[in-house]
Amino acid sequence: MEIYLDNAATTALGPEVIEAILPFLTTHYANPSSAHGAGRKVKEAVDNARRTVAGLLGASPEEIYFTAGATEGINQALTGAIQAYELNHVITSRIEHKAVLQTLNHHEKEGDIETSFVKLDERGNVDLYHLENLLRANPRTLIALMHGNNEIGNLTDIHAISVLAQRYNAIFFTDTTQTIGKVRIDLQAGDIDFLVGSAHKFHGPKGAGFIYINKKHHLKPLIYGGGQERGQRGGTENIVGIVGLAKALEVSYRTLEASHSKVSKLKQYLISKLAISGIEGICYNGESKSIENSVANVLNVSFPCLSTGSIVTKLDQIGIAVSGGSACSGGGASHVIQALACEADKENVRFSFSKFNTFEELDQVVDAIVRIYESDPTIATTKAWKSIASWA
Ligand code: PLP
Repeated sequence: MEIYLDNAATTALGPEVIEAILPFLTTHYANPSSAHGAGRKVKEAVDNARRTVAGLLGASPEEIYFTAGATEGINQALTGAIQAYELNHVITSRIEHKAVLQTLNHHEKEGDIETSFVKLDERGNVDLYHLENLLRANPRTLIALMHGNNEIGNLTDIHAISVLAQRYNAIFFTDTTQTIGKVRIDLQAGDIDFLVGSAHKFHGPKGAGFIYINKKHHLKPLIYGGGQERGQRGGTENIVGIVGLAKALEVSYRTLEASHSKVSKLKQYLISKLAISGIEGICYNGESKSIENSVANVLNVSFPCLSTGSIVTKLDQIGIAVSGGSACSGGGASHVIQALACEADKENVRFSFSKFNTFEELDQVVDAIVRIYESDPTIATTKAWKSIASWA
């Protein structure tokens, strides 16, 4: 059995993406900076990719810079903004991705900034009143708050935050790694200063991403070199990644509603199957159970009497790939779950779907989980999993 339910960690390449990148792996291999026809052809592909990404997001092509993924874009946005505007205060949350938290931690240790953490409710939603209070007390702040959480799926109202940012003259960076290609983002509709995307989260290649830098900003590069990306990022471009990213985003936008509907149904189906599985006391973390308030493809579950390690390992042994919290947390307790003031057990399993998953796969996953309970002597003898419902 091979069932892949770890699509928040990474996704399979889409068939149209494979078709689009093949020529750039075979015949179109020239350097886009070269002054010959072969090079110009490849440069044209990069320009087209930039126009595609910009067009889909409501940005200008000049505002899109290709990177090696979201982590690089996050480092560029945060470090670039802190340095360019000599900002000494950043507002973030305890449930951001480590790429944000570690970058800010570095700047704090260097003495560049002070970090304030916005309050979250018990489900991990940003307290906008607290955010406004922090902004009022700290004018000219950088806000770093994500759009879709990679572990619990929570969607943040980035439009409301951008309005607050404008009101208090703050700069707003949002990590849209989990929402690009899944939720329509129109950069004309709000005032976002920087955002990032990563192709491998929406059926594009790994190691390719982009940063949107609103044209009113000029950031120093993170990587100096031969002047590529209009001087913003040195190094020969990852053509395969860039072409694949643009194609993957184009396909995602073309099929967005259908994919969203399919993936939402998968989530609802898994919830309903678990509800009749006989396992009592299942707890859903954050907003992940809610279709409206979370990214459709993430469901974060705590199972009674089973540790993250044991369930992830047991499912892995029979070919089912899920994640315990976040693949990027490198094991150990999840900082996201720990930040929730919820009574739930800190052990959690993240199921994350894609349009390529099927309902039959979810039937097999629930059957497998029930079998884990039935075959575990410690749980089976006490039947505790049937009766412990205290943190449901
Ligand atoms: N931000 C979020 C919310 C993510 O989920 C991830 C990847 O898991 C990243 C940033 C880092 O992305 P990348 O793998 O492209 O560096």
